Amino acid sequence: MSYPPCPKCNSKYTYEDMWNYVCPECGNEWAQEGKQEEEKANTIKDAHGQELLAGDKVSVIRDLKMGKDVIKQGTIVRNIRILDEPVNGHDIEAKVDGVGSVYLKGEVVKKLV
Ligand SMILES: [Zn+2]
Repeated sequence: MSYPPCPKCNSKYTYEDMWNYVCPECGNEWAQEGKQEEEKANTIKDAHGQELLAGDKVSVIRDLKMGKDVIKQGTIVRNIRILDEPVNGHDIEAKVDGVGSVYLKGEVVKKLV
């Protein structure tokens, strides 16, 4: 992969540092276009593509087996928590009445307004 030349001094020895490009010759730093948006695009979406946020109320769109418990389709879950790091592909933590704290995937819930 090659990096764009420095816009200040035209040096070719630029490198990548997190969200910026850095020029070692003149010390110039500039943002990589689109990179930050890419990172931000890692949002959790529900079954209909709506962004899920901490504290949202959702309903479960299909029966979910949780060990010996089943979370029934249509179960309302309040005050979801978005996990910083997914757990086994699950990105939401929720407290379900009668079951307790569970991990869910965004694709099995629908955001309620
Ligand atoms: Zn430079």
